Formats: sequence, structure tokens, C-alpha cells
Amino acid sequence: TIFLGIESSCDDTAAAVVTGDRRILSSVVSSQSDLHADFGGVVPEIAARAHAERLDLVVEQALADAGLGLDALTGVAVTAGPGLIGGVMAGVMCAKGIAAGTGLPLVGVNHLAGHALTPRLTDGIDYSYLMLLVSGGHCQFLRVDGPDAFTRLGGTIDDAPGEAFDKVAKLLALPQPGGPHVEAEAAGGDAHRISLPRPLLDRPGCDMSFSGLKTAVLRARDTLIADQGGLRAADRRDLCAAFQSAVADVLAEKSRRALALSPVPVLAVAGGVAANGEIRAALEHVAARAGARFLAPPLRLCTDNGAMIAWAGIERFRMGQRDDMTLSARPRWPLDQGAAPMLGSGK
Ligand code: ATP
Ligand code: FE
Repeated sequence: TIFLGIESSCDDTAAAVVTGDRRILSSVVSSQSDLHADFGGVVPEIAARAHAERLDLVVEQALADAGLGLDALTGVAVTAGPGLIGGVMAGVMCAKGIAAGTGLPLVGVNHLAGHALTPRLTDGIDYSYLMLLVSGGHCQFLRVDGPDAFTRLGGTIDDAPGEAFDKVAKLLALPQPGGPHVEAEAAGGDAHRISLPRPLLDRPGCDMSFSGLKTAVLRARDTLIADQGGLRAADRRDLCAAFQSAVADVLAEKSRRALALSPVPVLAVAGGVAANGEIRAALEHVAARAGARFLAPPLRLCTDNGAMIAWAGIERFRMGQRDDMTLSARPRWPLDQGAAPMLGSGK
């Protein structure tokens, strides 16, 4: 089995070729971050146009890197949602074009299922396991019992942690995306000097909240500025350290509860925030205490990529699932409402 996977749901245009025995023959990611940098966020119209322009080239490059032609493929998988509708539509149209031109089977994939199934591709683990997806746009605990069997145990009720890292970076005049810069500052800071809340820890369950934390950083920053007439380098480091350790505490405690609710042998993470060393260490500790293995795929497979889509397509294909030319793009598509796209419906 050899699948081409196509991803275009946010600001990365990606394609990859993956085999049924878990080999990634190629993985090409074309980032649009330069196009959106001046706007302080992803601009949907610009993203859709850039995806449409780049998809053919990215797919060609993925095939060339794999050293294969379309005739060597078993099928084509594509992200059919959730995401920015223009980008998802561009990807779906590209995949349909290839499927129509070659007669290859077409498999629509839920983007979140792609992230959630990544540890099966990278480490070949068995079902069931727990996945903590922590990125710029998502934050949720998923119990993964099969290629289309996901149970959401909880998630953020407001911002995603990556979004909070980015906003905190902005408050402290650090570059975007903020995560790595906040982490670098935090490394030299004192996490105990400024005390920040641990939102929702007083409430049972696995739901989380990060927008209040960002507001608390804003208040602490303004108090320091008012008291001292400005922000010193040490203040910035201490604010970053306090913020990062609050996020790590919340994610660790909620992970502990998720593992208690759903005792499985593996806790896996995906999403850009999983790159954070302190957060990783905290999760690793929680997993060890629960007797579970901790798995963090390599960063290039933790963030948006085509390989995870190809792999999720292979898993669906093996279950006998495939789509036809009525496959449509879905802007919203909660994972626990079934991993198969609803045919013919726009939502
Ligand atoms: P999604 O994939 O959910 O649509 P996205 O594309 O924004 O969202 P990712 O590419 O998975 O998400 O991750 C990017 C986010 O990860 C950014 O918000 C970034 O600040 C954050 N991030 C990256 N590195 C770190 C780090 N070392 N510490 C904390 N956050 C980080
Ligand atoms: Fe993603």
C-alpha cells in the first residue's frame, strides 16, 4: 500500500508519500507564514489562493522526492476538514483531480484524526491510547480506540495553548510565532516571582482554559510597568517563566485526570506546543506516575504535514472506507462525530 497525502487546512501546503508498512518516502511542507506575517494571523483569502497556487508543485515535489509516479500509488488521501474552508476546498479539488485522472481510490481524512493517528505511524503503537493535541488552534484530550473511534475527554473552553503563547509573546514584544521565544526567555527566568492562576484546576474533569492566563500576564506586566516605569529584561524572563509553568501545570494535572479516567498504556502528544521542553517534561512525569509510556513524535510530524494525512487515509482504506467525487470540504468536523466525511453535505 502506498498513499499520497494532501494537507491544506490552515497555512501549510503539504504533501507526502507514505507506505502501509510505516515508511515515509517523502514529506514536503510549504509554509505560508511569510505571506501572513504582516496581518497578525492567517488571512483566509490569502491562504486559499496560496494553497491553490502551490498544491500542484508540492504534490509533484512529494512524488519526485519519493521517486515514484502516480501509477505507483494505491490511493490518494486528503484533508476534508476541519479548517479554513477555501484551503480545504483547494486540497479536496486537487485530490479529486488526481483520483479522476488516474482512477485511484480517494479517501477524505479528518485533520484531527491525522494528528491523533500519528503515533501509530511513527511508533507503530496499538490501540487504545490517549492523545493530547496541543497546537495553535486546538487543545483536546482524545481517547483513540480505532481509525475512526475517538472519544473527546475534554479540551479548552477558550484559547488553545499555542494561541496563548503567541499572545503572551505579543504582550512582551517578542517575535511570532511566540512559543519558542517565550520558552527561550523562560529558560533564564524565575517562575516563582510572579504568581499566576492555574485556571479550571478547581473544577473536575479535563476541560481547560488559557485566555484568563494571558489576561493575568497582561495585568502583571502593566503593574510592573506602572511600579517601575518600564519593563526590564529580567521582568520579561520572569513573566515568561511564570506563564510557561502555569501552562505546564494545567496540562499536567488535566493529563493525570485523563489517564485516571481512561487508563491506557500510552500518553501521546501532537501539535506545535509539544515542542516545549518544560511541558514535555511535565507530561512525561505524569505518564510515568500513571505507569504509561510517553510518546512525542518528531516535531515535523507533530505540526501540520501530509504524512499524517496519508497514514490516516491508509488506516481508513484498510477498513474498506473510501470516498467518491461527492466528497466535500467541511469547515467544522468534530472528531467524535465519526471520522468518515458526510457525503454530499457542506457541513
Ligand atoms: P493547528 O494545526 O491546530 O491548525 P497551528 O498550525 O497554529 O494550528 P502548530 O503548527 O501545530 O499549530 O503549532 C504552532 C503553535 O505552537 C504556535 O502557536 C507556536 O507558538 C506553538 N509553539 C511552537 N513551539 C513552541 C514551544 N517551544 N513552546 C510553546 N509553544 C510552541
Ligand atoms: Fe494541525
